[in-house]
Amino acid sequence: MTQLPKVVITDFIDEPLEIERRVLDGHAEILALNALSEDELIGQIEDADAIMVYHYFRFTRASIERLEKCKIIVRPGVGYDGVDIEAARERGIPVCNVPDYGTEEVADSALAMALSLTRGSHFLSSRLRRSIGDWNVDQGTPIHRLRGRIFGIIGCGRIGTAAALRAKAFGFDVVFYDPYLPDGVEKALGVRRVDSPEALLAEAFIVSLHCPLTDETRGLISAGEIEQMPVGSFLINTSRGGVVDTAAVVEAMAAGHLGGAGIDVLEQEPPPEDSPVITAWRNPEHPAHDRLILNPHSAFYCEEGAEEFRTKGAQEVLRGLRDEPLRNQVS
Ligand code: NAD
Repeated sequence: MTQLPKVVITDFIDEPLEIERRVLDGHAEILALNALSEDELIGQIEDADAIMVYHYFRFTRASIERLEKCKIIVRPGVGYDGVDIEAARERGIPVCNVPDYGTEEVADSALAMALSLTRGSHFLSSRLRRSIGDWNVDQGTPIHRLRGRIFGIIGCGRIGTAAALRAKAFGFDVVFYDPYLPDGVEKALGVRRVDSPEALLAEAFIVSLHCPLTDETRGLISAGEIEQMPVGSFLINTSRGGVVDTAAVVEAMAAGHLGGAGIDVLEQEPPPEDSPVITAWRNPEHPAHDRLILNPHSAFYCEEGAEEFRTKGAQEVLRGLRDEPLRNQVS
């Protein structure tokens, strides 16, 4: 009897693997390692024919060089900054993602945080739960009408576009900065476009980040950029932690410059307990306590989307194992 190819799921997804087996049964054996660090992969992945890697750790050159016969690496998510694609390219292993399973959910999450902050609901709920202030709107003011206020989007790809359409429906004046899109996207969407991040930062009431983490976008928003934003404005990051210096966000709140921030992604996840962001957010004396919404990289999640990324990830693995054309090869 010929041995079936071996598919290793490194992290995040564990038994029962009913979704992956629906696609791969009869074609491959699946092993879920449920690893929390890359070291735990040693001795487990060398003979894998396909790898599915989620986001608990970086899948570095060290792991990729250990793969003896791997035909495909699938990252069943959008961002693939956690995979050393250069090392994979050198070994001739294609890397694929699943780009579309959470487009709506991340946009929904960005708008949810933006609305909760700008409407004062997060601030008032956080304060009144601690019995601070009167049972009225006073301590939450000023709260401004959203219609006509500027919603700035950095990176107007799939999620940025979905966020733009949502923000438009709420009456925002939507503006985006994205140097890699051809002319005309702004006309198709019926929004404005600016040619520099500075132009966007200077006028935006809300800045929402939807670009990938690359060498160019790492640290795109730090103290200097936040200073360029209007006093009382809001920052939303559902892209990648590395795009924003989140400690600078917290400092800008303490200085009274930022009105609030919604942060789904951090430079390190989970964050160290003593990180300045966590310390400020937990401290009832710090403005971030009431003005920062912090989520555990959950913007993508919904039950239907989880089924979608697991199914589509396994389908791409199957195409790779069968030498069929790949649908979402990123490298
Ligand atoms: P996408 O590739 O469709 O869009 C990204 C856009 O960013 C592109 O239009 C690109 O031109 C633009 N861009 C690249 N470099 C830029 C720069 N320097 N300045 C401005 N724009 C730039 O990707 P997407 O599906 O919209 O996803 C965007 C990002 O969201 C992903 O890369 C991922 O990191 C993040 N994401 C987060 C979650 C979450 O749960 N928080 C889930 C999915 C995706």
